[in-house]
Amino acid sequence: MSIQEHLGAHAVPYKDMMADYKKRNEDFFRHPSKYYMKPFRILGDLWYVGDTRVCVHLLDTHDGLILFDSGFPHTVHMLTQAIWEAGFDPRDIRYIIHSHGHYDHFGAANDFRELYGCKILLSAADAAMLRDNPATSFLEHIPCPLAENPVPDIEMQDGDIIRLGDVAIRCVLVPSHTPGTMAFFFDVKEGGKTYRVGYYGGVGFLSVYREFLAEYNQPLSVRDDFFASLDKVYGEEVDVVLGNHPSQNKTLEKREKMLADPNGSNPFICPTEWRTFLDTIREQLRIFIDAGY
Ligand SMILES: [Zn+2]
Repeated sequence: MSIQEHLGAHAVPYKDMMADYKKRNEDFFRHPSKYYMKPFRILGDLWYVGDTRVCVHLLDTHDGLILFDSGFPHTVHMLTQAIWEAGFDPRDIRYIIHSHGHYDHFGAANDFRELYGCKILLSAADAAMLRDNPATSFLEHIPCPLAENPVPDIEMQDGDIIRLGDVAIRCVLVPSHTPGTMAFFFDVKEGGKTYRVGYYGGVGFLSVYREFLAEYNQPLSVRDDFFASLDKVYGEEVDVVLGNHPSQNKTLEKREKMLADPNGSNPFICPTEWRTFLDTIREQLRIFIDAGY
């Protein structure tokens, strides 16, 4: 199998990757509602309220709601609609916990804080990245020219535990896709059983191309950190893998399976998926770097 086949969109020169990225976004920016997805319960009190391009997860802690990420800046209306459609009130959101500091994940943060008073969380490392180098968030690529990077209320550190209601979320710093990408681990209960959820908050290679790192004044050593971060969380026991783009954990395919067989086993529960996922990313990253990108 050629490198191109193996890596798909990852294994193209940076300028082609950027051109492809912009092209794929064109229709989404013009007609975002075509990408709306009916919200659904993954398991227990964990819901999917994202669209078909980027994931947003909602966790009901019974003492307020937590969102993981907040979508693109031009789809705030879709996220609001999805939260209502799932049966929740956005005014009950207490925290928006962000996986990393790119515009496609923090899009509703500023609006939701203004409207609902929730707190914005981002790792200290990515908060610093946005302060020192605001363009790193890719904000220039969106169709909202005046949108701003959020300034977080809480800067997360490696090992932090976020507690709310009956939930405790462990935050693990995994420098990789950005210097401050975070992984999160927490329990969700269903049918008398407890399931461990694992969420690695960013694995795309666009931000680790040599050209990107040079353009945005970031060190090449980010790529060594990437490998170390994959190792750092490899030993976690995870029953349910979440993605921050649907392709990361096949969100859409799993949802289709749920709809096709509502009484079948939950396709999101898969205790081997976490390590398979990390192994695949490690292998792809090795090939990507060896190919000279
Ligand atoms: Zn990103």
